[in-house]
Amino acid sequence: MSKTKISNPQSLKFARVPHPSPLAADKRAALLKNPGFGRVFTDHMVTVRYHESQGWHDARIEPRAPIPMDPAAAVLHYAQEIFEGLKAYRTADGGATLFRPEQNARRFQQSAERLAMPELPESVFLEACDLLVSTDREWIPDGDGSLYLRPFMFANEIFLGVKPSSDYLFMVIASSVGAYFKTDAPAVSVWVSPDYTRAAPGGTGAAKCGGNYAASLLAQAEATKHGCDQVVFLDAVDRRWVEELGGMNIFFVFDDGSMVTPPLGGTILPGITRSSLLTLAKDKGIAVREERYSIQQWKADAVSGRLREAFACGTAAVVTPIGTVRAPDGEFTIGNGGSGARTEELKSVLVGIQRGRTADPHGWIHRVF
Ligand SMILES: *Cc1c(COP(=O)(O)O)cnc(C)c1O
Repeated sequence: MSKTKISNPQSLKFARVPHPSPLAADKRAALLKNPGFGRVFTDHMVTVRYHESQGWHDARIEPRAPIPMDPAAAVLHYAQEIFEGLKAYRTADGGATLFRPEQNARRFQQSAERLAMPELPESVFLEACDLLVSTDREWIPDGDGSLYLRPFMFANEIFLGVKPSSDYLFMVIASSVGAYFKTDAPAVSVWVSPDYTRAAPGGTGAAKCGGNYAASLLAQAEATKHGCDQVVFLDAVDRRWVEELGGMNIFFVFDDGSMVTPPLGGTILPGITRSSLLTLAKDKGIAVREERYSIQQWKADAVSGRLREAFACGTAAVVTPIGTVRAPDGEFTIGNGGSGARTEELKSVLVGIQRGRTADPHGWIHRVF
């Protein structure tokens, strides 16, 4: 997230097509009781079209519905697709907020650049998110829930030649969500994939593209087969440096109070949760290093007790303690196998800011209404 792009200055007027028959309040309330993750969707969606001759055009918010697609649409063949994920929170005074959405807008531009796609202006990204949250405000769950926004863009040209598409569709859909992990366990277990890597130098590891996830599914299935909740990937060159989980960054907490997270460098997704936690840790005077950490060291430090805690972080699951690490040559436990004081402390500061319960010293909260 280093370069700031010059946004296409055109501003778009969104056509508003209200849903003729939104879901009844009692049915919606029943869905919001226990929404899980990514199964309950709101009444509306945003669509914005791009054509190389017209730029971005035809912006609208309209009833959520299937989208007609030609079977030769480029995305179905060559996976030219990117996405984002961010949450809207209900505030105590009945409003709604987003957490650092301009960071998602900028990362979306960087992902677009890597996938040879056009950049969506930051203002259009933000307006699309705001419009969907305010239109479907009744769908933001109370309590620990939130409204998960999924902006995405895909190649829509009808052509089987291999080249960047001339047509794209940008969309935002919204899903009412509760907790990401179904488990009641105090911490998750991770499987160190011996055979598969997530991203190689020069690849698409720093872009939030669907293809990275497609490539991680077999490793994730292997993790499940070995009784683990998540897969953790090692680097593709030396096969020893811990990189990240399938969809979350990782932090380590040591007995001297210091922390380590693997450095960005093209193969790791620059998480906004990761970057926020780095800032919050520094605010607290915690020595936090962006430094490579090997799987051998991880094991040795867990066994010796030098490593006290480890946790994964990302928008969907926020901060999730890692209790057990399993690999083909054995497993080890971190700390007492559950969460730790530092993990809980950082989580509560972050969640407090996100939910408007504590001060927001860095101006991270974006008020939607
Ligand atoms: C989205 C994502 C993350 C977390 O990013 P956040 O901005 O914190 O949600 C981490 N790793 C991968 C691979 C991701 O796709």
